[in-house]
Amino acid sequence: MNCKEFEKNIPEFIAGKLDFLTLQEFGEHMQECPGCKEELVIQFLVTEGMQRLEDGDAFDLQRELEIRLTEAKRKVKIHMSFLKAGAVLEVITVIFLLGFLGWIIS
Ligand SMILES: [Zn+2]
Repeated sequence: MNCKEFEKNIPEFIAGKLDFLTLQEFGEHMQECPGCKEELVIQFLVTEGMQRLEDGDAFDLQRELEIRLTEAKRKVKIHMSFLKAGAVLEVITVIFLLGFLGWIIS
């Protein structure tokens, strides 16, 4: 993901609408690119800040963004472990089928 794509995805991220793959690339770019991270922080503060002013909530947005990023990271991690588990399961199934075929043929 480049800076332009990152910027385009910021509103989606704030809205919590990014899909897993985009979220992963989004997170990767953010770690490599301090400029984009700053842009994200600013947009988050503006977007959520406006909303909060309307709602009249007390807020600690900097902390909230951190929580949200941690959640996003956890989501990616969970998804990755599911993918890995799926791959392992697939391998086991194939081995089992081959064994079964071997048993039938012999
Ligand atoms: Zn960037």
